[in-house]
Amino acid sequence: MVFRWRWTLVGLLAVGAVAVACGGSDSAGGDASPTVADGRLLVIATTTQIADMARQVAGERADVTGLLPANADAHDFEPTPRDVEKIADAGLVLEHGMHLDEWASRLVEQSGTVAQVVVVTTGIVGQPAAGGEHDHDEDDPHVWLDVSNAKIMVANIRDALIAADPDGRAIYEANADAYLGELDELDAWIRAQVATIPEANRKLVTNHDAFGYFVHAYGFTFVGSIIPSLDTQAQPSAQEVDKLIDAIEAEGVKAIFTEASLNPDLARRIAEEAGVTVVDDLYADSLGPPGSGAETYIGMMRLNTTRIVEALR
Ligand SMILES: [Zn+2]
Repeated sequence: MVFRWRWTLVGLLAVGAVAVACGGSDSAGGDASPTVADGRLLVIATTTQIADMARQVAGERADVTGLLPANADAHDFEPTPRDVEKIADAGLVLEHGMHLDEWASRLVEQSGTVAQVVVVTTGIVGQPAAGGEHDHDEDDPHVWLDVSNAKIMVANIRDALIAADPDGRAIYEANADAYLGELDELDAWIRAQVATIPEANRKLVTNHDAFGYFVHAYGFTFVGSIIPSLDTQAQPSAQEVDKLIDAIEAEGVKAIFTEASLNPDLARRIAEEAGVTVVDDLYADSLGPPGSGAETYIGMMRLNTTRIVEALR
């Protein structure tokens, strides 16, 4: 991954220089806040979740573009020269932070943008990876799978929009209040759904270590993950796979859950060997494409909860 980045950066350096030159001529009038042609604030969000939350808060007031397409791997995204141009033109850049979208910091640097760059997870209390095996003493970045963390992200997004576009304050505040109310309802709904699963069945085995915050917030026990890492690119050893199958059998786990964005082959093999079902259409790192039911954050949380409850009840 590091190796590939070096080559990507060589390309970005050249394109970035062009983008900066263009941006410079555009803002020759001295206006320090670049906007889109119709005068709206142009907001760039790195992940699909942040883009959706920003759209909920911005409404029609700002133009929100997400960099990651649906089902792209946030851990290993390869930005294109077009992404550098988008950031160069932005008035506000919303990043996840927590080492999830480190590629974004490099993009911002290359673009030469004058946009404010805001890390939307500021203030969230991180927890270590659910599997307990993480390489760099880093906290698990998948914080949005606990709705209370999503609310902190939304509040940070609201404050960032107001700072970048103070005239829109009333709109951003009203939209954020309404959306935060919906998130409270979502949280209560998830808890009510989980309560229908017999307590002994509230055990999760997932594909990579993405669901730690969900497990912690909603009263599950984490039994293991197929890729025992926060990084989707890691590979389990044969010994790790055997250990997981033993744990599934010993704990009486009913199902293995994997994300639609990841290859389900290994999960299917393990499920077959352990004699449990596999649910392969959860969404964690990425929202789903249009029509999936998971194209919004709230839709994603409802779909995941429904699938988990159906399989464990
Ligand atoms: Zn992930």
